[in-house]
Amino acid sequence: MKVLVLGSGQLARMMALASAPLNIEIIAYDVNNQNVVHPLTQQLINLSLEQAIDDVTVITAEFEHIPHDILDICSQSGKFQPNPDAIKAGGDRRLEKALLDNAKVSNAKYHIINTKEDFLNAIDIVGLPMVLKSALGGYDGKGQWRLKEHDQVNQVWNEMEELIKSSPNQAMVAEQFIPFNREVSLIGARNKNGDMVTYPLTENVHVDGVLALSTALEGTSELQQQADKMFSAIADELNYIGVLAIEFFDVNGQLLVNEIAPRVHNSGHWTQQGTDVCQFEMHIRAVCNLPLNGTELLRSTAMINILGEDSLPKNILTMPNCHVHWYGKEKRAGRKMGHINVCASSSENLQKELATLSTILDNDAFPVLA
Ligand code: ATP
Ligand code: MG
Repeated sequence: MKVLVLGSGQLARMMALASAPLNIEIIAYDVNNQNVVHPLTQQLINLSLEQAIDDVTVITAEFEHIPHDILDICSQSGKFQPNPDAIKAGGDRRLEKALLDNAKVSNAKYHIINTKEDFLNAIDIVGLPMVLKSALGGYDGKGQWRLKEHDQVNQVWNEMEELIKSSPNQAMVAEQFIPFNREVSLIGARNKNGDMVTYPLTENVHVDGVLALSTALEGTSELQQQADKMFSAIADELNYIGVLAIEFFDVNGQLLVNEIAPRVHNSGHWTQQGTDVCQFEMHIRAVCNLPLNGTELLRSTAMINILGEDSLPKNILTMPNCHVHWYGKEKRAGRKMGHINVCASSSENLQKELATLSTILDNDAFPVLA
């Protein structure tokens, strides 16, 4: 079987690595330069998008910011999974908020802003402090503002107005600031029959708005139940097929949905070492209508992102429970270059392993471990 993935970054790469043993071949479409490429080598494959669509059994995506004309061409073939509405909702915070409301899952109070008048109304409706997020194109905390005091209104508006005017369908979503205790996420999958599986919840630590550390949670059954319930409400609402990620705020044991990602997710990379079936294989299984299982936590596992670095001390390989995954990308400041999965026999030992790892790694490059 052959699958076409829209997007040719590390997520497509890891889908290819996970699918090869199942004899499922992945080809990738780079939406930026419109080339069909091999997801591991980026080598050009001599096919147009239309030819690639004909060539495969299933089409899916590694990210949500896909031009709608490309999505439409792919979905017209009847091969595209998940349904394009899910991809669109993941790429537009207005649609995403409407989806969360329709699925009746708790999320931060919000108001959509197109004009300064909307902005002033948002302050009444949502209250201060508030978080302002661009409707389109946001990732890794980009395109966001925080408004704490009334006297910042004019300055923040001037900056936001520039962004709103920069592209035709752009707007802002004002969101109530949530004083959360921590951030967690849930990765799960749903297939055509409506069968669902979820992985254990993951606790996420961000540094400067970018995910730095994800740890699989153990022994949190009450929280897991809440998350699973919201997952099934959202996945059913979308009639979703594939892996879907949900980011939550944990406020004193009550979960609030922050956002969804209609795809495999950075906070699920630990599943490569922590479970029998990782999120990448799971996504391919779901979109190819194969059985879903193997999400149980096999051993305590955490993931550390490698940001802006293209080499690590060789010593890391003296720790057999550290698994390095490079993405083969060119070095750029802050860029997601790879990740390290760390495993241990208990969560206590995992903390010890992370402490050992921090003595090997450069503390400036991995501040989350310092
Ligand atoms: P990513 O690509 O990393 O998921 P993003 O650009 O899609 O980020 P969000 O996840 O919505 O944006 O926000 C980034 C971070 O900002 C969140 O992980 C959280 O720490 C903080 N944040 C977002 N919304 C709120 C809120 N309403 N209240 C408090 N903090 C928030
Ligand atoms: Mg996020």
